[in-house]
Amino acid sequence: MLTSIGEYERRISKVRSAMVSQSVDTVLLSVGHDLPYLTGYTAMPLERLTMLALHRGGTPLLFVPRLEAPRVAEMPGLFEIVPWDETVEPLDLVAAACSGSSTIAIGDQTWARFLVGLGHRLPGVRWERAVDVVGDLRMRKSSAEVEALRAAAEAVDAIAAELQSGHIPLIGRTEAEVSADLSQRILARGHQKVNFAIVAAGENAASPHHHPGSRVIQPDEVVLCDFGGTMNGYCSDITRCVVTGEISSEVAAAYEVLMSAQSAGVAAGQIGVRCEEVDSTTRQIITEGGYGEYFVHRTGHGIGMEEHEDPYMVSGDVRLIEEGFAYSVEPGIYIPNKWGLRLEDIVVATAEGPLSLNQADHNLHSVSA
Ligand code: ZN
Ligand code: ZN
Ligand code: ZN
Repeated sequence: MLTSIGEYERRISKVRSAMVSQSVDTVLLSVGHDLPYLTGYTAMPLERLTMLALHRGGTPLLFVPRLEAPRVAEMPGLFEIVPWDETVEPLDLVAAACSGSSTIAIGDQTWARFLVGLGHRLPGVRWERAVDVVGDLRMRKSSAEVEALRAAAEAVDAIAAELQSGHIPLIGRTEAEVSADLSQRILARGHQKVNFAIVAAGENAASPHHHPGSRVIQPDEVVLCDFGGTMNGYCSDITRCVVTGEISSEVAAAYEVLMSAQSAGVAAGQIGVRCEEVDSTTRQIITEGGYGEYFVHRTGHGIGMEEHEDPYMVSGDVRLIEEGFAYSVEPGIYIPNKWGLRLEDIVVATAEGPLSLNQADHNLHSVSA
């Protein structure tokens, strides 16, 4: 997604309003997605410090190692690049830029060595998390961001359709081979990066985050595929299951419950509803269906520049759904040592109601592939 300088300026000014209302003097951003969200620049996740110092006023300063400065796309007026030399201690520079700040909010993924080093240089500062200042803004996707998520969703929908129509060979291949195949398709359909391609067959599907391995896929078993990547800065994430042959009545019955839980969970995502209600909606249906103890994870997670980000569709997340929230609805039923089923779509909250970005068929397909 191409973001204009004007859009970055709007985001920074909204962050500054949040800083004022939360009494934060300075926001410090390093590794993670808040920095590219505000500046278009992604820090290298290395031991050399990259850090944006954003005060309530003035030009934000981006401290970067001099050798990495050529990577930064300049944004005149948006921020000033401060390259530091190898013989300089960059934390001294950042600390000097923060003199006079009594409350500083710092990005979640900043290396501990930097936070600890800053803590020693800035005694008496109250430290907060930058997610509390930037996160609200990042949860409410703009229409351009929703379009980016939709394009990524359409790409993985097409791969799901290939899976369901038997165009992706399964029987006789290992999970790892099918995972590599899915990964290639994710890239071929326009993603720049593969984030994950879980392929779990038979009893392995009962492990929600199974790592695809050397197990060879057999006839007549459930194959769970959960895959996604990053396209133009925004993530896709979809789960569909297929059966390589005959669908047992046991699996069919569970899938029926799962499918109605998932669609009810999508429908529950109305503006003004608490995030946790999406979770309680799917959980109630799965529990009433008799599978409650086999639904072992939350219903969903926010998605955007990160594959998992705020908010979370889980008991205890009492945030109210707002227009532009984008999140997964992905209930599952996992019978240990037997099989597992999950069904996942990405949903966006709109004034007209929840909009599912994924349109791939929701039924459990029997494939001869
Ligand atoms: Zn997951
Ligand atoms: Zn997923
Ligand atoms: Zn997900």
